Order: sequence, then C-alpha cells, then structure tokens
Amino acid sequence: MSGILNTITGGLLGISINVPSALPSSAALAACAAIASGTQVLTEVWPTNEYTPQYTYAQNHYWSSANTDNVPACVVLPQNAQDVSEVVKILLAYPTVAFAVKSGGHNANFGFSSTGGVLISMTNNNSTTLSSNNQKATISPGATWAQAVSDLEPFGVTAVGGRVGDVGVGGLLLGCGLSFLSAQYGLPCDNVLDYEVVLSNSSIIHANSTSNSDLFGALKGGGNLFGIVTKFTVKVVPIGTVWGGYRTYSSSYASQLLAATQDFTENFPGPAAALFTTFEILADNLDQFITVFYFYNGPVVPPGVFDKFLPIPATSDMTTSQSYSSLLSQNAGIASQYGFRYSLRGATIPNLPSTNGTDLMMANYNNWISYVLSQGLLQQSTYIFTLIYQPMMISIPAASAVVNPLGNLLNLSTTYGDQMWMAGTVAWLESEMDTTAHSMLTDIMNDVASYARTKYPGAEASNFEAGGNIQHEYAPAIFMNDAMYDQQVFKGYGSDTYQRLKVVQRKYDPIGFFPGRTSGFNLTG
Ligand SMILES: Cc1cc2nc3c(=O)[nH]c(=O)nc-3n(C[C@H](O)[C@H](O)[C@H](O)COP(=O)(O)OP(=O)(O)OC[C@H]3O[C@@H](n4cnc5c(N)ncnc54)[C@H](O)[C@@H]3O)c2cc1C
Repeated sequence: MSGILNTITGGLLGISINVPSALPSSAALAACAAIASGTQVLTEVWPTNEYTPQYTYAQNHYWSSANTDNVPACVVLPQNAQDVSEVVKILLAYPTVAFAVKSGGHNANFGFSSTGGVLISMTNNNSTTLSSNNQKATISPGATWAQAVSDLEPFGVTAVGGRVGDVGVGGLLLGCGLSFLSAQYGLPCDNVLDYEVVLSNSSIIHANSTSNSDLFGALKGGGNLFGIVTKFTVKVVPIGTVWGGYRTYSSSYASQLLAATQDFTENFPGPAAALFTTFEILADNLDQFITVFYFYNGPVVPPGVFDKFLPIPATSDMTTSQSYSSLLSQNAGIASQYGFRYSLRGATIPNLPSTNGTDLMMANYNNWISYVLSQGLLQQSTYIFTLIYQPMMISIPAASAVVNPLGNLLNLSTTYGDQMWMAGTVAWLESEMDTTAHSMLTDIMNDVASYARTKYPGAEASNFEAGGNIQHEYAPAIFMNDAMYDQQVFKGYGSDTYQRLKVVQRKYDPIGFFPGRTSGFNLTG
C-alpha cells in the first residue's frame, strides 16, 4: 500500500478503470424517482445526472476501484438523520431495490459501500462539533479522519480514530477501529458515547449507555447490520504537536525490522508510542519496499522508544514533529493509492516471546515471498502484494477496559497476551484478475494463521497472564476493518456475543432490512 504503489501509480492517481457490472434496474430507477420527487434530499439520478460532480465523486471515489464497476441508479446525499429517515421510508416501499451506505469508501469488499441500486453517500453530512465543555465531539459519518481531526485541532483536542487521513469516520467506527492513540485511550469505538441511528422502520433513535444500551453495545464492532448511523458522539482527548510519519527501507533490513517490531510489541515502551510495519512486493519485477509508520504522542520522541528502529538506514524519512492532522494526511499520501482494485484480508496471531516471536514473524514474511514467487507472475501482470504487521499489545485492551468498562465486541483481553494483527492486501488493475487475486490473498493469509497454529501449538504469547485462555490465541477475533467478505468476523467475537448480536439485530431490524438489502458481514448460520 505504500512505496511501490507510489512509484508506479503516477498518472493513475484518481483514475479508475470503470467496467460497469450492470446498468440500474427499472425498480431501482423508480425508487430513485420517488426519492427525488418525494423528499428534499439531494438526489442525482442516473443517467440524467451521471456527470454531476456529486454523482461522479460518489461513484468513483473508492479505495478499491472495483467498487466503481457498480453504477448506482442514483446517489442520494442526506445532510442529517431526518433526510436519511425520509430515504428509508421510500426504500421500504421498493422492497426489491438494493442500497448501500457510503462514508469514506475505503472498505475493499466489493459492494459493501457501492451498489447498482440506491447509493446513500454521507459526503454532505460531514460536520464535527465540539461540546461547550470541550469534553466530547459530535462527528457526522461523511467526515474523513483528516477532516474531523483538523476541525478539532484548534481546540487542542482530538478523537481516537484512524491512522490514515482519508479513511471515513463511519466505516472505521462501526468496525470498532484501531488508532495510533489506542494504547492510551482504547480502540476508537470504546470512545463512542452516543450513536444517532436511523432504524429500518425509519425512526431516529439514540443508542448510548442508558438508552437502547443493547444496540449501543452492538454498534461497537457490529458493522452496518443494525441501522444507518447519522452521528457519532465521542470522547475527545488532548493533543498537541506529535512526532511521527513514515520511513521506507530496503528489503535487506527485513529481518532487523521484523525483530524490532516483535520487540516493540513484547517490550512495549509506553502508551504514547505506536507503529505498524508493512512489506510490499511488486510481482512483475519483484521490487520490494518496507515502510514503517511511526507515531509518538509528543513533539519529540524520547530515547528508549523506537531505539531498535531509528538507527536502521532509511531510503526515505518523513518522520518529524508535526500536527496530528498533518501526520494523518501524510500517511494518506502513501497508504491510500487510488486507481487499483484491492483485496484486504486479516489474520490474528499471537506475538510470541523473544526468538520464537522473531522466528514466527520472519517465517510469515518468508512464506509470503515464497508464495508470490511460486505463482509465476514475473513479468506477466501487475499485482502488488502487501503484508502488514500491526502490534496489538496488551496495553490496548487495558486502555479499552478503563475507557469503556461495558466493553466492545472484539473479545480482547490482557490475559491473552500480546497479539499481532496481520493484514494482507493485493492490488491489481483488471477485473479479469479479480478471482485470482482474491484466491491468492486467501491462501497467503490462511498460511499466516495456520503456520502459527501448527509450528507453535499451545505456545504462550508474550505477556500472557498465568491462567489466561491459551485456546484463545489460535481462535481469536478477526478485525472487521481488515476482513475479507467471506471471513467469519462475528463468529470470531465468540458464541455468546454472536447469539446476543442476532437477538439485537432482530429486535432493531425485525424485517431484515439491512442484512437483506445491503452488503456487509452477516450473522448467518
Ligand atoms: C489505506 C487504509 C488505511 C486504513 N487505516 C485504518 C486504521 O488506521 N484503523 C482502522 O481501524 N481501520 C483502517 N482501515 C480499514 C477501514 O477502517 C475500513 O476499511 C472501513 O470499513 C473504512 O471505512 P469507510 O467509511 O472509509 O468505508 P466505507 O467503504 O464507506 O464503509 C465501510 C462499511 O461501513 C458501512 N458504513 C459506513 N458508514 C456507515 C453509516 N454511517 N451507517 C451504517 N453503515 C455505514 C458501509 O456500508 C460499509 O459496509 C484502513 C483501510 C485502508 C484502505
């Protein structure tokens, strides 16, 4: 997702290869006409308005350009909950018409936020307002994290959110989220105090710790199954100048950087620090890049924090003291390369202690390279493979427990020890390569999960607590925000949570409006 893409995208940036999967149906066009005539909500209907800036942006601005294959019958741009409620009322009268809700458009899964039916784009519902006592902020789902953070920055506060500025607030928070600030303040969803939600019966309700508290709990990692969220009220935390940015490295430093990442996770230097480490291979010439994204919540990084990393010679170095919003925007410049079709898949593994840990990290890296080489892709086609190591040290669930004693859905615990949230991506250009790309990435990430299980069965993760559940290490939750469409995210939350979510889903959406008419992770089986 970073260095290599930067070098080869050049003229591709912002351009997507548009292969319409199907043109809008007459039922979808009828629903759109009803929304356009029956509400005050801005509605751009295909084909008449297909070239308006609003329609074009909504249809084309996706991290994975595969989503631009969908040609929406209309793009609907609500500004508030009342607008969304009006749209839902009309959708109820057109029961065969699919719809999708789009916030930042960064979800790689085809159709999760794109559709040939009614596309509800939150772009015009993007405000961020700070409460009068400067303790909380209300953020609308159409904002990106860069926008929300910039809006809050003049007040010396921020929201616990994404690490890359152009990711949307809506999707990230509904998948619970992972932030550079998580070891200090918990996961992003732990910091949500109130959700304003439009339900399937078009009513507008609030879910918080005292009102609709079952829904409140279900939205902390429950995705788009329960309603359309029109506002998130979150705790804010202090922020000033931060240190960070990314550094890129030659692949000859892979083992050193992996050992440093393992050590950072096991011997975590303190909650103000965060990083993630990414490896990339361009399959047609086997060029490799390594990028480490650094963050320290303070203007200067003290000695002892990134000591194993900083002496390693970098090929480019963007780390500096800067504002938090500038760091997030800088990360977007390298991590969010547009114009490619993408697939993203997650795997959670334990961070094993010391030499077992570095062996596991290195083995995953070597297996990944061997797999890419074994596919015979050299000089055939443009596939870019990325392997991402995201430390999930016990400080994060510890911080979550303080901030959010009611808990999120993710089944994390300090007793399980440190984890590594692994993610893989593949980027490619032509739709004919979709099936191959998905299946290669599935193989890669299945190998990541199974190697740990088979080579180190029963091994304790670093900082594993005596009496903790060792079984959990090899059956952990898969992070929704990194998951591919066929991964069983909800089952990974544990069977009690899974059953509870089914009950809550039926209670708030008895007609199955959301699972039946929009794509996303599902509670089936
Ligand atoms: C470059 C990059 C960097 C990333 N960095 C991070 C990171 O630092 N931390 C992290 O946790 N994740 C990260 N992610 C993963 C990201 O959080 C998920 O892909 C997330 O789904 C994207 O949210 P979005 O709003 O941009 O996406 P969208 O594609 O717009 O939406 C994603 C899903 O959420 C649903 N949705 C969106 N808004 C609403 C709403 N208001 N009501 C109901 N449903 C809604 C959509 O229908 C869709 O199913 C990153 C992804 C990429 C590609």
